[in-house]
Amino acid sequence: MLKFEDNYPLNKITTLQIGGPARKFVKVKTDEELIKAIKYAKDQLMPYLIIGGGSNLLVSDEGFDGLVIKNEITGSISTSKVGFDSFEVSTKSGTPLQDLVDYTIAHGLSGLQKLTGIPGTIGGAVYGNAGAYGQTISGHLSNIVILACPESDSGCASLTRMTLSKRDCNFNYRDSIFKKTHDIILEVIFQLELGDPKILQQETQDILAKRLVKYPPGIKCPGSFFKNIIATSLPQEILQKIPPEKIIYGKLPAAALLEQVGAKGQKLDGIEIATYHANLFINKGHGSAKAFYNLAKKYAKKVKEKFGITLEPEVQLINLPTLI
Ligand SMILES: Cc1cc2nc3c(=O)[nH]c(=O)nc-3n(C[C@H](O)[C@H](O)[C@H](O)COP(=O)(O)OP(=O)(O)OC[C@H]3O[C@@H](n4cnc5c(N)ncnc54)[C@H](O)[C@@H]3O)c2cc1C
Repeated sequence: MLKFEDNYPLNKITTLQIGGPARKFVKVKTDEELIKAIKYAKDQLMPYLIIGGGSNLLVSDEGFDGLVIKNEITGSISTSKVGFDSFEVSTKSGTPLQDLVDYTIAHGLSGLQKLTGIPGTIGGAVYGNAGAYGQTISGHLSNIVILACPESDSGCASLTRMTLSKRDCNFNYRDSIFKKTHDIILEVIFQLELGDPKILQQETQDILAKRLVKYPPGIKCPGSFFKNIIATSLPQEILQKIPPEKIIYGKLPAAALLEQVGAKGQKLDGIEIATYHANLFINKGHGSAKAFYNLAKKYAKKVKEKFGITLEPEVQLINLPTLI
């Protein structure tokens, strides 16, 4: 039975603990419940927004004037052998990413281990093509089952379940086709190879130790705020001025530019930029979306003025204007 709640405070479900109320809010635990929730929104002529763990969201203080659907569709992760040492692993989109990473490590499967420690669900990770330490969620992905939900469709007649190949998803750095369509990710299938369990364990432990320094437990943040910049996308005259050691995995970290314009340690009304990382914006207590947004905008503007580079938010802005 679906439980629709009125004026639900979204700061309760974002890792940033910021965000005004959703006009309506519902948790869904099955595909059928999800379809019912969408049908409800369409019947009420209300916009809807699907969310996972809320770990990559900056929601405005005014909240969201529609239905927020929290995806809690999980289920057992399944594996089948598809080759001599390769396996297909299938999981529902509401499964926490960490559960999948832990499962693959326990089964000695390689390909997702570097994503350890990234909060949120599989659906959220696929939407933004989450990644870390040179690995991305799309790297070993083979297929996705989606619910195609055309925005123009006023009823539910055209809600269609379909399977997309990896190629259909247009994955790029922190980007996928789902940022343009209104489609909902239901299930994700990966193809993974056997690895050495000891090496996999060691890799994850090393990464978790590094992550613990950057993201101490309880930190109220949405991960890195801005995307890094793909080095090959930079004009030659800018690239020439950047020492090669600053380019990591083919990208110029946004933090390096933000540091150059004095962002580290800056504060505004309860929001603080970490003293140790210029691309980490933290809610220190009762910060608002407005303060967060204004602080980010201020330093993005300074980067633009000094380097001519437009920083793009990695975080999803909900009911907020484009940053620059
Ligand atoms: C401490 C911390 C560390 C982080 N480190 C990293 C990192 O190393 N690398 C990295 O890439 N990210 C990182 N992040 C950001 C974030 O965890 C990831 O982007 C994560 O994958 C988001 O998943 P989520 O379920 O929380 O998505 P949400 O924040 O709930 O949603 C994000 C977007 O995905 C969409 N979405 C969610 N589920 C679905 C679905 N089923 N179908 C269609 N669209 C959907 C939402 O509409 C929204 O636009 C970090 C965040 C925190 C707080």
